[in-house]
Amino acid sequence: MKQPVTPADYIAREDQYGAHNYHPLPVVLEKGEGIFVWDVEGKRYFDFLSAYSAVNQGHCHPRIIKALNEQASKLTLTSRAFYNDVLGEFEEYVTHYFNYDKVLMMNTGAEADETALKLCRKWGYKKKGIPGNKAKIIVCEGNFHGRTITIISMSTDPDSYGDYGPFTPGFATIPYNDIEALERELEDPNVAGFLVEPIQGEAGVYVPDDGFLKKASELCKEKNVLFMADEVQTGIGRTGKMLACDHEGVRPDVLILGKAISGGVYPVSAVLADDDIMLVIKPGEHGSTYGGNPVACKVAMEALQVIKNEKLAENAERLGKIFREEMRKIDSKMIELVRGKGLLNAIVIKPTNGKEAWDVCVAMKENGLIAKPTHQHIIRFAPPLVINEEQIRKAIDIIKKTILDMS
Ligand code: PLP
Repeated sequence: MKQPVTPADYIAREDQYGAHNYHPLPVVLEKGEGIFVWDVEGKRYFDFLSAYSAVNQGHCHPRIIKALNEQASKLTLTSRAFYNDVLGEFEEYVTHYFNYDKVLMMNTGAEADETALKLCRKWGYKKKGIPGNKAKIIVCEGNFHGRTITIISMSTDPDSYGDYGPFTPGFATIPYNDIEALERELEDPNVAGFLVEPIQGEAGVYVPDDGFLKKASELCKEKNVLFMADEVQTGIGRTGKMLACDHEGVRPDVLILGKAISGGVYPVSAVLADDDIMLVIKPGEHGSTYGGNPVACKVAMEALQVIKNEKLAENAERLGKIFREEMRKIDSKMIELVRGKGLLNAIVIKPTNGKEAWDVCVAMKENGLIAKPTHQHIIRFAPPLVINEEQIRKAIDIIKKTILDMS
């Protein structure tokens, strides 16, 4: 194929040579800075997806890029066959940052979730005394934890699990935000853990009732069951606190992080827990060639520092309120519902004049703002947390105008 020139050329090339496992919005990006991205024709867009909440610190944050470059030209990968001079520095930093005894580093969110599942099962056998191969983990309807076989075994979304069986056993599913159902499942003495997203991002930004996480974590404690929070999407300032669990003062037994822990610069994920849990995994039982490499460590340390130094969680809390308030003011039948926390928000679109959420996203793109539907009728809005009030008001105007023009 000849060198692509137009956006259509780039799209055709991906279509021809890449697997068709995504359905991207038709925009071809080549540059990012802060809250903005530019396409191959030089047009600028507000990025209201932030790579599914990975780019909380903004595109190409200079401090994070500097950390990347410095470490990349010194030492990139040792594997865990040997020690290096950076991993321990990061481990000390991140365990103090989140107040846990230990961390285990991986690369992607899915790997961190897999790690948490293994840790939980092993803890169930070694510490709780669950009989061999009987450990059960409770999960929620509508969950999204990634794409591996075990993770889709927990999924209730046919797009995720359809035709990919046979599946990993050992999971019990309850409705999200249903304390009574959790209580019933917890009666089984073989339950080792409860895995939950504090807000269900991929499902469409479902925010549970106030008190759900607190009550759920208390019930888990009562029954000697690990409360495991998947904060891959909700963590690192996104919802207006460092962790979404912080809104209810909940400290998960197992904390799962990914995405924005590296500011969208490098694949880094991590599982945090205290010694009595983490130390059940012994040498040689779990790992990853790239997990905890020096570049990942330096990048993640800088990315976490930026969140605190620039007060990005506080910014997300303040601007998120303005965003939801302004969305609720839009006088259009197309907007059925607005929900979210901090800068993780969604609007539910009622198809109008034959137009659906996808058409709204295409029209917003034309007007200079990119976002993506999740499921058919929901649009998630999650800009980088470095956005300021003037910028978010400009973005709100684009969303408003687009929807009003279509209704
Ligand atoms: N967990 C949650 C809550 C997520 O939202 C995602 C991705 O969207 C993942 C896990 C999987 O992360 P990754 O795509 O890095 O494997």
